[in-house]
Amino acid sequence: THQAQSTQAKDTLISGVKHVIAVSSGKGGVGKSTVASNLACALALSGAKVGLLDADLYGPNIPMMMGSTAGPEQKDGKILPVESYGVKLISMAFLVPEEAPLVWRGPMVHQYLQAFFRDVLWGDLDYLLIDLPPGTGDVQLSLSQMVPLAGAVTVTTPQEVALYDVRKGMAMFQKVNVPLLGIIENMSFFVCGHCGERTEIFSHGGGERAAEKLGVPFLGRIPIDPAIRDGGDSGHPIVVAHPESPQAAAFRDIAQKL
Ligand code: ADP
Repeated sequence: THQAQSTQAKDTLISGVKHVIAVSSGKGGVGKSTVASNLACALALSGAKVGLLDADLYGPNIPMMMGSTAGPEQKDGKILPVESYGVKLISMAFLVPEEAPLVWRGPMVHQYLQAFFRDVLWGDLDYLLIDLPPGTGDVQLSLSQMVPLAGAVTVTTPQEVALYDVRKGMAMFQKVNVPLLGIIENMSFFVCGHCGERTEIFSHGGGERAAEKLGVPFLGRIPIDPAIRDGGDSGHPIVVAHPESPQAAAFRDIAQKL
C-alpha cells in the first residue's frame, strides 16, 4: 500500500537511528533550544549515542549553545556531523549562509530537511533530537512525513498564553499520528541565589495542568536561572558545565524519561 511504501522510505532515510524525538514549542523564546541542547548532553553523559539536529530555520542557535563554531566536514560527498560534548550535531546554520533571506528558507524547508537526513552521516544513534522551529508550520509537517518519529516533547513556560499554543501544537502532532511524549515546563520558578526564596515568575503549574488536560505525561520543571542562560550563551550547557547543580539534575531527570 501507499502507506507501507512511505513507511519503508521513512525507515531507510535514517536506518541507524533508534529514536527520533522532536523538541517543539508553541512559541519562540520559551527555551526550546536550551532544553534540547541540555537533554542531548544529558543523554550523551548517560552513555547513549546522541545526535542533535537544529532544524530551527529562523533562529538556528544550537551551534552557539553547544560551543561549536566550526562547520561540518565532508566525506565522500556526505556531511560529517560536528561533535560537541559527545553529541553529533548538524544545524541549519552550518548549511545555509547567514545572509540568506528568511523568505528563501520557508519554501526550501523540505529539501533542507531531506538533506539533513539523507546527506549527513549520523551513523548509529540511540537518540536523534530535533530542535524544531516554534509553532506549527511546514517543518513540523514535513518532518512527520519524512522520518518515523518516536514522538514529540513540547517545551512551555507556565503561563496560560504559552499553554494555548501548546494545545495547538499538540493537536497538530496528534493529527499526523506523532505520539506526544509529554510536556516540559521551563522557567518554572526562580530560586534566589542569596536568600533561597523561591519565586514563580511566570505563574504556577500551567505545564502540569495542560499535560493533565491533554492526557500526556508531565515530564518535569526547569527553573529560570542565570547559570542556565550563561551555559547557553557561553557554549557550555549547564548539564556539562555544572553537573552537580540541581538545575543539571532537573535536565537529567527529564532525559531519563525519554
Ligand atoms: P527558544 O529556542 O524557545 O526560542 P532559547 O532556548 O533560545 O528559546 O532561549 C531563549 C533565551 O532564554 C536564551 O537567552 C536562553 O539562554 C534563555 N533561557 C532559556 N531557558 C532558560 C532558563 N531555564 N533559565 C534562564 N534562561 C533561560
